[in-house]
Amino acid sequence: MEKIQGTYRHYKGGLYEVIALARHSETLEDMVVYRSLTDPQKVWVRPAAMWGETVCVQGKCMARFEPIQAPGCQIIRSDRRTLALRILPDGTVQVRAPRKIARARIDAFVDEHRAWIEENQRRVLRRQNRLASADVQELIRRAEQTIPPKVAAFALQMGVRPKSVRITQAKTRFGSCGVQNTLNFSCYLMLQEPAQIDYVVVHELAHILHKNHGPAFYACIERVLPDYRSREAALRQ
Ligand SMILES: [Zn+2]
Repeated sequence: MEKIQGTYRHYKGGLYEVIALARHSETLEDMVVYRSLTDPQKVWVRPAAMWGETVCVQGKCMARFEPIQAPGCQIIRSDRRTLALRILPDGTVQVRAPRKIARARIDAFVDEHRAWIEENQRRVLRRQNRLASADVQELIRRAEQTIPPKVAAFALQMGVRPKSVRITQAKTRFGSCGVQNTLNFSCYLMLQEPAQIDYVVVHELAHILHKNHGPAFYACIERVLPDYRSREAALRQ
């Protein structure tokens, strides 16, 4: 049970801190009491048995609560006379210390300031999370601008007509083509070079004609992108 204590990222992206382990007064069931890091007024309770569960959404499985590793501690010794603490942008604790001070003194100093360290690490973590979701929004925006025109142009060239084009936040694949010829493209495709983006677009459009990865499917791609092999290889890296 003690292992549960710490900071977690919920599979939907929220950050939570376990603040206590409790026991239901009637059923004696073990419960986890946890608090939102973005809105500390919000305190929740959930059966401990559910805490470590795996959640599957659209075929993708992940931990309901993913533990966030406590950032490490970095010690920098110099000619200074006093100890000083700083939280780096990634949450690492940096201690600046005099050259000859004993390690035990440094550890005691860190321990005395634990509350301050934890509060500031939470602040850093909250900011990182906000940045991460802002980045994804930016990728979605760029994908929505970039991908549909590419789909339209290549579809014309290939003589196919997709039913719809959607931008997703899929992390495990860049694109897919449904049985109804609905095309999905991950916003993370925007992190690739234009040559690779074009390849994924043509690949999914070719699935409108061939619902497999057989020779006819690749021949169809090759007519549009003769160098598709190198593009595909670059994508795999
Ligand atoms: Zn495919």
